[in-house]
Amino acid sequence: MRIGRMLLLMQRESSRRGAPVLSVESAIGRGPFAILSFTVLSARTRDETTISAGRRLLSRAPTPHKLARLTLPQIQKLIYPVGFYKTKARHLHSLSRTLIRNFRGEVPGDFKSLISLPGVGRKTANIVLASAFGKHTIGVDTHVHRISNRLGLVKTKTPGKTNDALDRLIPEKYKKKLNMSMVAFGQTVCTPLRPKCRECPLSKTCPKIGVHPKA
Ligand code: SF4
Repeated sequence: MRIGRMLLLMQRESSRRGAPVLSVESAIGRGPFAILSFTVLSARTRDETTISAGRRLLSRAPTPHKLARLTLPQIQKLIYPVGFYKTKARHLHSLSRTLIRNFRGEVPGDFKSLISLPGVGRKTANIVLASAFGKHTIGVDTHVHRISNRLGLVKTKTPGKTNDALDRLIPEKYKKKLNMSMVAFGQTVCTPLRPKCRECPLSKTCPKIGVHPKA
């Protein structure tokens, strides 16, 4: 099956099932600072929790200047109970100061500058570039890594290797859609523990690599 068709089927099915990630945009908007803050908050945290924490944080600190004025305990309180909230609060605090100091309070739109920010790695940088700046990049998180391997698109052991392989494989025009489509699909159909292969629109062509035969 072609990748464009595959992504379309994933989008339709996960939207029908109300994937939590699809409400992120309406919850936080498309501003680069909101997307960056949300992506930093989202690591190892359920989307529902990240959305509530992101809303609380962004309503109090919608800009780097406002965030930099908050104390660490205030940020911790706003983002609790996201995973690693103390570390993320520290990253957000120094990230806002770095944006003010080095980037005139704006989120930079290039990879090298983004990964120079505290708490921002390859995945976060690529998601921000795709979602906030419309660049053709692929943000690879655990959903994208798992689903790409199950589908046999790649054969890789780490998200970093998956990112390299998908970068070579996926045509430019589909790259920026891929993260959102696979995350939504991973939340609703191709879930980590019990993928719903019998209800999956890709079931006929998917090799289901590494999936239990009874799934
Ligand atoms: S058939 Fe199963 S393993 Fe393949 S994409 Fe669908 S849910 Fe995932």
